[in-house]
Amino acid sequence: MSLNFSPKTIENVDDQRLRIIWEDSHESVYSFQFLRQNCPCAMCKDEFSGEVLIDPEAVPPDMKPTRSEIVGNYAISFSFTDGHGTGIYSFENLRKLCKCKECSYHTGSETN
Ligand SMILES: [Zn+2]
Ligand SMILES: [Zn+2]
Repeated sequence: MSLNFSPKTIENVDDQRLRIIWEDSHESVYSFQFLRQNCPCAMCKDEFSGEVLIDPEAVPPDMKPTRSEIVGNYAISFSFTDGHGTGIYSFENLRKLCKCKECSYHTGSETN
C-alpha cells in the first residue's frame, strides 16, 4: 500500500505549532518541540539503529523555527532557536509522526 504524502497546506497554527493538511484532507498538528525531538538528522538519530541520540527532555517547550523551507518536492527543513538546522523532514516521515487518534489507531501504537 502506498499513500501519496503530499501536503495541501502547511501553516503555523501559532508560535509553537505547525499544521499540515494533506492531499487526502487529513490534518496533522505538530509542536515544534516535538519536531525538534524527532529530528531525523544523523546527529539526532542513529541512521542504522534508529536510536535517538538527543535528550528529548532537554528540548524546551517554547522551541521555535528560525527558518523553514521546502526541500525539493518531498520535505521541509527547519532551523530551530537552539541553532540546530540539519534536519530534513520528509513528508512521508511527517505523516508517520502524526499523533492524532486516527493515526495512532492505524499504526497500532503502544498507547492504549
Ligand atoms: Zn538533528
Ligand atoms: Zn493523523
